[in-house]
Amino acid sequence: MSRTKVIPIPVLGRHAINAYLLLGRRPVVVDAGTPGSGRRIHDEVARHGVDPADIALIVITHGHIDHFGSAAELHRLTGAPLAAHAADLEPFRTGRARRPYLPTGPMGRLMQRDRRLHVRVEGFEPDLLLRGETSLDDFGIAGRIMPTPGHTAGSVSVLTDEGDLVAGDLVANSFMGLIPGKPANPPFHDDPQGNLASLRAMLALDPRALHVGHGSPLDPARVGRWARREDRRLTRRAAAGRLTVRTRTSA
Ligand SMILES: [Zn+2]
Ligand SMILES: [Zn+2]
Repeated sequence: MSRTKVIPIPVLGRHAINAYLLLGRRPVVVDAGTPGSGRRIHDEVARHGVDPADIALIVITHGHIDHFGSAAELHRLTGAPLAAHAADLEPFRTGRARRPYLPTGPMGRLMQRDRRLHVRVEGFEPDLLLRGETSLDDFGIAGRIMPTPGHTAGSVSVLTDEGDLVAGDLVANSFMGLIPGKPANPPFHDDPQGNLASLRAMLALDPRALHVGHGSPLDPARVGRWARREDRRLTRRAAAGRLTVRTRTSA
């Protein structure tokens, strides 16, 4: 089988917020951007020579509105089923991310005041409710959806058989992509150490590239070095009682 192509779909700026088009035997879309971007994602998919009505599945990586804001709209525009993890079902159904957002640093503390993060978007009901590792074979992609909890309890990533990891907010580029190639935390994590454990579990599978929600693709070796430093930083913060974690909610 030929390699699954991973094509970024810019939702905001050049790569400040990305969705992705995966092209295997059939097309699959990962993430659905901010509210009001369904038409843009639909048109971008068409621009790559894909009939949006052929999209086999839309995978939502997690319950933040810059990733599921247009899920309901894109579902209407394409007819494609939505796949999302049970542990973020409450945000998906209510159209609201869990609050408060828990900042990972100064960027998050600044951003948590942004009104756009606190709006209610159109909710949705997943057609495919994810609970564990899920093969994408039935949807025309040689790859699988992997639960990668921590950023939110219901965060997932898509790993193709060739090693492309579409990682949502598991890791980001510094300053939402303004410093391309430099790994950093996204502005918020519900459980920073849980997220780091998920990231390291994915790196242990030896991916060839990390395609993230915010910024350009990241080199796994560089992310691995960053993750070791981050591990030491989080351990120090936890020991000092300065690590805020949202208690895991089950679904
Ligand atoms: Zn997020
Ligand atoms: Zn995000």
